[in-house]
This record gives sequence, C-alpha cells and structure tokens, in this order.
Amino acid sequence: MTTTRFAPSPTGYIHVGNLRTALMNFLIARKQGGTFILRIDDTDQERSKQEFIDQIQRDLEWLGLTWDRIEYQSRRLDRYSDAADRLRDMGRFYECFETPAELDLKRKKQLNMGRPPVYDRAALELPEEEKTALRAARGGYWRFKLDHERIEWSDGILGPVSIDASSVSDPVLIRADGQVLYTLASVVDDTEMGVTDVVRGSDHVTNTATQIQIIRALGGAVPQFAHHSLLTGPQGEALSKRLGALSIKDLRAQGVEPMALLSLMARLGSSDPVELRGSVDELVEGFDITRFGAAPTKFDERDLFPLTARHLQTLGLADVAEDIAALGVPDDQAARFWAVTRENITTRADLRAWWEMCRDGAEPVIDEEDRDFVAQAMALLPEPPFDEGTWAAWTAQVKEATGRKGRGLFMPLRKALTGQAHGPEMAQLMPLLQKVRARGSQ
Ligand code: GLU
Repeated sequence: MTTTRFAPSPTGYIHVGNLRTALMNFLIARKQGGTFILRIDDTDQERSKQEFIDQIQRDLEWLGLTWDRIEYQSRRLDRYSDAADRLRDMGRFYECFETPAELDLKRKKQLNMGRPPVYDRAALELPEEEKTALRAARGGYWRFKLDHERIEWSDGILGPVSIDASSVSDPVLIRADGQVLYTLASVVDDTEMGVTDVVRGSDHVTNTATQIQIIRALGGAVPQFAHHSLLTGPQGEALSKRLGALSIKDLRAQGVEPMALLSLMARLGSSDPVELRGSVDELVEGFDITRFGAAPTKFDERDLFPLTARHLQTLGLADVAEDIAALGVPDDQAARFWAVTRENITTRADLRAWWEMCRDGAEPVIDEEDRDFVAQAMALLPEPPFDEGTWAAWTAQVKEATGRKGRGLFMPLRKALTGQAHGPEMAQLMPLLQKVRARGSQ
C-alpha cells in the first residue's frame, strides 16, 4: 500500500517550500488511497521546539492536509541505536575524530589541488592506541562507509539519476555527543514505517544516494524517490533568505485562502496550468507528479491574491457568515452585504472596510468641477434607510434637476457616497448605506 510522509524539522515555521513537499506527498497518498504520515524530525533537541510542532499541525489543518498518523523521531531513538549497532556489526560504520576545523582544512587543501572535497577516510588508518587516546580526548563520531560504486535510481521527477559514490563523503550518522543524525533516522523510519514514496526537495539528491546504500545495508525496500525543484523568487533569485517571510502562518495572516495557496502549489513548476480548485479532493484528482519539471520554479506570492479573490467569489454566505457576523453586520443584512462585497474584495479582511463604509459613511471624494452638482444632488437625497429603489429614483431626479446623464451623472455620485471610483452596484449598495457623509459638504 502506498505510504508517504511529510517530515519537517520543527526548528522553524513551515513555508511555501515545505508546503510543496507536504502537498505532493499528501496528494500521492490520497490518490492511491494510501497512508500519509506526519513525521516530526525532532532529533535535534536544542533546535526543535514544541511551539513549531504545534504550528506545523495548525498550518496543515488549516490547509486541510490531514495526516493519518503522526510520528516523532525523538520517541524512536532506540530504533536508531539498534540500526547503528547493526551497521557497526556489518563493518559499515567507522569512528572518526577530526574536529570541524581539521575537516575544513582538509577540504580547502583538496579544493586547492582541484580535487573534490570528499572525506579521505583517514580515520580508517588510525592505529588502535591512537583511536583510544583521541576518543578519551575529544570523543568520536561515526560515519557510514559507502561502497564506491554508482548509485542509481529512477527519479519520479528527475528521471534516471546516477551518482558516483566515490564523489560523496561518507555520511556522518552519529555525532560525538551520541545524537543520531537525520540521514540514519530517516532511513530507519522510512523502512520500518513502510514508506513507499518519498518526495522532497532537490537539495536532498546526494542524501538520497547515500540513503539508498544505507537502506540496502539494513535490508529495507528502497522507496520511489522524487525530487522537486527548489523555489526561486519571481526573477529567479534565491528565495532562501525570504522563506521566513513566506511562512504558511504569515500568508494566512495576510488573508491568503488555503485553496488559493494549494491550487498554486499543486501546479507551479508543472506543465499544467494553475487552476483554482474548490477542494482538496479536486486537487487529488488533477495531480500527476510526472508533469513536474527539474528546472527551478519561480514563485511570486503576489499570485496568491488574485487566486484568493477568485476563491472568495465562489463562496456562499454560509462560508463567510462568521466573518460577517464578527464585523457586527446585522443578520438580516448579511446576505445583501455578502452579495454586494464578494466581488469587491481581495481577502476577507477587506470586508471590514466595506462594512465601516456602510455603517459610518465614506469620506466623500468630490472633484472640484463636481462640487455644485454633488451639493445639488445631496439636497435631493432622502434620509436613510434607503431601499433598492432609492438609487434609481434619486438619480432620475438629479438628472432632471441638473441635466447631467451617463457617467457624468453616476460617477460623481458614486465617489461622493463611497469615496471610490469602483465598487458594487450602487442600487444594491444603497440599502446597506446608513450614513452619507457627503451631505455635510453642502
Ligand atoms: N527533516 C528533513 C527536512 O526537513 C526531511 C527530509 C526528508 O524528507 O527526508 O529536510
């Protein structure tokens, strides 16, 4: 059975890049009727925070990306030590003692000589006594000994991948303080949890190569891997520094709607056009990972707002009733208020300004040449409450009194009443309008 996982490290808020990973794994599982696991990669105890774990769950719930199971790596440490022991017994593990500074120096020397900065396995040559002394002095950490062969897999997005293992450093799997690192923990989890498909960012390609050898050494089944391209800004610039500002939490606070965000992310970087979808189920239907390309994917958060506006236009009153009630719109005016505003907002937050305008009147905008005309018109406007017939009756009277017609008649009145040149149909808006501040301008 298809099993996928989204495996964030709870060391920060998840952002659009993480969402891409989460969504693809989610859609694969749902499409196959499989299992989607939320796996919290919290082996780094210093940097992992409960606050981030909570927020990751809130974000995914808000998006509607429901998981079937949650797992925490911090609760599975004994499994990782077991696996480490097995690798040690197989002779695939070896202890190293170089400090970060020493490793750095080695790398620099290799690069100066035009060689790839691959760990030279010097620790394998150390005599036992020296190891004992180093272990006592600074403690050792453990690397996995790669077989120097080509590692190949057929990637769901990149196609056939072939990596020469001798061009990759033996990965460190256990730190000097005993902490098991992600590379091993992830392999143990993927194997034991029966993960069949792994989608992650292309920054993990080298990891995948080493993990394939570790999985094989531990006797696990190698999942189907797919590596999606990384997101860049609209001009192709690196997005890494801005990802903090592109957290799901922040986008939500800016009023982006989940279906707008999901619809964009489910198609961005694929050969299919972005289409606004009404539900997660519809996304599942239209998803095909083979449509995604390897080239970096341009992401512009401004694209989320037109999609959000379009999504809002599809909503019925029931979907926004709470927001509208929270503004203090009386129940009997809610339906009209929504009908009038739904095509004139970008986010739900924009409803507030419309309601304030209805309740308190707008700061009138009156062009110099319309001053007398507007004053004349205001004198003809009855007192609120208005009804659906008010606009037609009033403008007919104003037309007769002033001789104006068409745009020259309607536009100055719209601007005087709403403070804006665009907006809802005036006949529909009038019954909601409780105050006309333009009267004071007479
Ligand atoms: N915790 C890892 C990350 O966030 C998971 C990578 C993976 O999917 O294996 O990069």
